[in-house]
Amino acid sequence: MVASSKDFSSDKHGWAELLEPRPMGQKLQGDHKAPWVVIGAGFTGLACARRLAELHQDDEILLLDARLLGQGASGRNAGFAINTSQFPGAYEIAKIPEYKRLNRINTAGVDLLRAQVLAHSIDCQWDEDGLYYGAADRHSMEQRDHFLRYLEIMEVKHTALNQTELNEKLGTNLYQTGVFVPEGVLVQPASLVYGLADSLPKNVKVFEQSAVLKIHQGSRIKLDLEQATITADKVIIATNFEAGKIGFLKRYLIGSTLAGSFTRVLTKDELASLGSLSHWGVLSLHGGGATVRLTNDGRLMLRNTAEYNGGALLSASQMVERRIVHRENFERRFPQLVDVPFEFSWSGVEGISRNGTNFFGKQSENIYLAGGYNGSGVSKGTAFGACLAEYASGGQSQLITDCLASEPGTWMPPRPILDIGAAYTVRSRFKEVGLDR
Ligand SMILES: Cc1cc2nc3c(=O)[nH]c(=O)nc-3n(C[C@H](O)[C@H](O)[C@H](O)COP(=O)(O)OP(=O)(O)OC[C@H]3O[C@@H](n4cnc5c(N)ncnc54)[C@H](O)[C@@H]3O)c2cc1C
Repeated sequence: MVASSKDFSSDKHGWAELLEPRPMGQKLQGDHKAPWVVIGAGFTGLACARRLAELHQDDEILLLDARLLGQGASGRNAGFAINTSQFPGAYEIAKIPEYKRLNRINTAGVDLLRAQVLAHSIDCQWDEDGLYYGAADRHSMEQRDHFLRYLEIMEVKHTALNQTELNEKLGTNLYQTGVFVPEGVLVQPASLVYGLADSLPKNVKVFEQSAVLKIHQGSRIKLDLEQATITADKVIIATNFEAGKIGFLKRYLIGSTLAGSFTRVLTKDELASLGSLSHWGVLSLHGGGATVRLTNDGRLMLRNTAEYNGGALLSASQMVERRIVHRENFERRFPQLVDVPFEFSWSGVEGISRNGTNFFGKQSENIYLAGGYNGSGVSKGTAFGACLAEYASGGQSQLITDCLASEPGTWMPPRPILDIGAAYTVRSRFKEVGLDR
């Protein structure tokens, strides 16, 4: 299977564009040999390269990304690094070990991120003031009851909130009921990616716009890039849903395209028309509902569309249409701010599997892979990435056992049936979303 560098397109509409422009990174050229190559510089690849560098201090680790840093899902997500996963439906006693396993992985990821942010003073609006979960419609109100029971049994600290309390904090009357969970982090995702990349140990060499186009498997692995080749002892694939482009998990992992919009920075009066909190993040208790934030720099953000778009970002014309959906639901939440325009809209592609599982482990001799976090990969991707470095280095730990315990992925049919099935899978997330959208 041979990819082309055109298969890794991007646009200039991510959270990176809210930051100061960054100098263009180096592109890999020529023929190279390396003991370790990590493909993909999102949270998974960054954590993996860092851990490999710590474990093999005399080895050079090559970290390659097809795009500019911060242009993958890791720089385009909503910025929630969660400790506690949310599951649709009623709490199931039989699933306690599985809930605990996932939450151990999430928590390890948050701990790893926090350690790096503190050690390197990464300026990424890191905010540990907790997360809100909101329910605006009948279906999500039922989900709230399930979520509360789950939090109680899992002994996760939380506070149930009513409409008045939510309105007082967030400045919207839309949510009928909700929950506050004090653990969990909000970040500016692109600046976190930049900070993690800039603080990597010296034996990690980062190359941008350096897509791996083909992997030749064997006792030593050969990688073809547009202007380079690498002969590697061990290769880590941290490419999220794009693993299929270089011949891995093609029938198991697809890309779902999400999109949202930001307002401009709100004025003092506009901020005063909101609630008592200066920044916050709300996840919907409906799996297909909106994610909404008031960012630390005073913008409102709403992300509420998700679709199967063949694993691509939205085109400019698609974005114009989705922006109408963002706008309508923004104004329903914040009628006091109908005059505040959106300044910016963006899309991103997350890796999803049919059965909601994640992928971790050995793919073939000396090739390892982690990815596919179904919309929740900031903390999980970080933990999977660091753990994969240890696993590929022969390590053993409870966390590696946890990562290896992900259920096998479910096979997906080839195109065009895949397109229909994938579109259906993504659309079914919106069933009964109602006012939560
Ligand atoms: C809009 C949106 C909102 C989201 N919100 C949240 C959230 O709030 N919280 C949360 O936990 N998760 C969220 N997610 C999911 C989360 O962003 C992802 O799960 C996570 O970023 C995955 O990290 P990763 O490193 O595995 O993949 P990515 O960040 O996608 O990184 C993979 C990298 O590999 C590179 N690549 C691919 N193929 C090649 C190749 N052949 N050669 C070289 N490089 C290659 C890509 O350019 C990319 O940069 C969201 C996702 C989206 C799209």
